[in-house]
Amino acid sequence: MFKALYLTQSDDRTLNCALTELDESQLPAGEVLVQVSHSTLNYKDGLAITGKAPVVRSFPMVPGIDFAGTVLESSDPRYKQGDAVILNGWGVGETHWGGLAQKARVKADWLVPMPAGMTAAKAMALGTAGYTAMLCVMRLQQQGITPDQGPVLVTGANGGVGTIAIALLSRLGYTVHASTGRMHEAEHLKALGASELVDRATLSGPGKPLQKERWAAAVDSVGSHTLANVCASIKYGGAVAACGLAQGMDFPASVAPFILRGVTLAGVDSVMAPYARRAQAWARLVSELPAEVLASNTETIKLADAPAVAAKLLQGQVRGRVVVDVNA
Ligand code: NDP
Repeated sequence: MFKALYLTQSDDRTLNCALTELDESQLPAGEVLVQVSHSTLNYKDGLAITGKAPVVRSFPMVPGIDFAGTVLESSDPRYKQGDAVILNGWGVGETHWGGLAQKARVKADWLVPMPAGMTAAKAMALGTAGYTAMLCVMRLQQQGITPDQGPVLVTGANGGVGTIAIALLSRLGYTVHASTGRMHEAEHLKALGASELVDRATLSGPGKPLQKERWAAAVDSVGSHTLANVCASIKYGGAVAACGLAQGMDFPASVAPFILRGVTLAGVDSVMAPYARRAQAWARLVSELPAEVLASNTETIKLADAPAVAAKLLQGQVRGRVVVDVNA
């Protein structure tokens, strides 16, 4: 038996989330059985656990889109007992039982070997949010954005993607501006590497199709009017890596920035990203993000506390990242 968070839906579609004990035989099919040591809470986990959006596609479900742990059994030659592994996405925690549990059984294709220099706890202090932040940075670099072109804006600055994106960009030499609704967190954001703060209220309402050219590029995890205003404020030839919808899924924008300033809107998806890009992102996270950044940006909780913290996360009351020690 092992402990897991367990989501069920009643006939009237009311969601119930309970800490329960499951038997290994109940786990879904997959080539690799993993002893999970740490998981995490991302925005999507918050949606799944609270039922605020239909993230979970089948019930009962063990939530958790990320985990890190050690292989217990594998029928795939790429993994053997004792190997340390990371999992992010692939519908785990949405359509396939996930990481907020002490054990998980998944497809070998979904795993990434733990890179040398990374631990399970550190990997989950990054989680999908941190790995996505790196995918966004990689996307801006692919677009040829270099530090000399001007400041880079990070929206949703106090969130998981936002905090890690600030830290990564500033360590690569970019000048980073941080858009936030929590100006009182200025000290933390500046310690991560932001040089200037932007009140998110100045970006969250309807704006003009073309605005003053302020930023060479942006990492946006907010969407909606914020993304539209950010695109309208990008310098000629710049780029925006768009990965999130914390404000909304809509995009009330015009084509003006794209056709008059040659701005690129680059979408970033972590869930189905191919293996080679994942492995590259994880390798870069090891070498480019010092451990002390993760320590100052992370709160560690017990599995039993995950439902309460998930609700706080959706209310914008969590700063940075949350690691779940599933054995605590
Ligand atoms: P967090 O909850 O950790 O961070 C979101 C941040 O967005 C908050 O901390 C807050 O920052 C800001 N925010 C919240 N509500 C609003 C609002 N109404 N208007 C403007 N800003 C708001 O989430 P994550 O960092 O884990 O994820 C961020 C987004 O990115 C989510 O939408 C998530 O689904 C998406 N995502 C997408 C991925 C992909 O593969 N494309 C992968 C990972 C995440 P502050 O308080 O500083 O304003």
